[in-house]
Amino acid sequence: MPAQILDGKALAKRIQTQLTEEFAALKAKGHAAHLVSLSIGSDESSDWYVNNQKKAAEKLGVAYTAERIPADSTFEQAAGKIREICGKPEVTGMILQLPVPKHLDANELAKVITPAKNVEGVDPDNLGHLIMNQYRNLPCTARAAIELAAESGVDFKGKHAVVAGRSIIVGKPVALLLLDKHCTVTICHSRTPNLAEVCRTADILVTAMGAKPGMVTGEHVKPGAIVVDVATIAVEGGKYRGDCDWESVSAKAAWASPVPGGVGSVTTQILFKNTLETLKRTVGAHA
Ligand code: NAP
Repeated sequence: MPAQILDGKALAKRIQTQLTEEFAALKAKGHAAHLVSLSIGSDESSDWYVNNQKKAAEKLGVAYTAERIPADSTFEQAAGKIREICGKPEVTGMILQLPVPKHLDANELAKVITPAKNVEGVDPDNLGHLIMNQYRNLPCTARAAIELAAESGVDFKGKHAVVAGRSIIVGKPVALLLLDKHCTVTICHSRTPNLAEVCRTADILVTAMGAKPGMVTGEHVKPGAIVVDVATIAVEGGKYRGDCDWESVSAKAAWASPVPGGVGSVTTQILFKNTLETLKRTVGAHA
């Protein structure tokens, strides 16, 4: 029997409905969210994300401001702009759009963002809290992958999870979240010699490599596994594909997430979920 689909679009819609209500209720009490995006220079895919976030914000009734500084900005100029944005009391969340120009270090710039306002959650403070199981802003894509996997109804406890990819944006936080859900977790990366063999031992397989479309096949999948494909790899015709070869993977898995229509669809709503939770913490702190 082919895999059941982990439907990212349907999950995103449900999250959107819930967030719309909650943002409206807070606004009615005088607590409005304001998200500010900072782009340094321009990049086609990142500009696409900004546009997407802007549209999502409109639907949710959240104020969204897109700021841009020149591509040749120095680190101090970029850091100064970030401090200026985060210093405004009406700004409740900020996003630094990636990639940043090559002469700048995105990780160092992320450290300048006030952690409580960093709704993407990829900085030492938010990641440090994740390691301590004290969740603040969780990295959006990692949280989206876990929420999508949970759509299968799986009881995570005691399952063997394999995460293919070890980036700080996706692989590592996914692994930590699965660990916190009492999975036994194995992390693979580009030096793992026997990727297919390890992946085949997974009850839950999360792929986040982005190296080659369709490189994960049915050979990598244990029959009945849950497979979440995080990768978005640009291919010809302006389309995107994931790490997984849908046909052979979905023939073996019990549940699988498509690309597009999987994790990517959920990530933007998770960004706003983090924005809502940030706002709630701020309101709580001043109550
Ligand atoms: P990244 O920083 O390039 O990390 C890729 C990871 O995959 C690295 O840990 C790398 O290992 C590993 N890897 C690469 N080739 C491999 C191979 N042949 N075998 C085993 N491991 C391999 O990328 P990322 O930022 O984590 O993103 C990963 C994918 O997710 C990309 O396609 C990206 O576009 C996508 N993504 C999607 C969303 C979304 O919202 N859906 C958000 C963010 C990212 P090493 O560490 O050894 O190099």
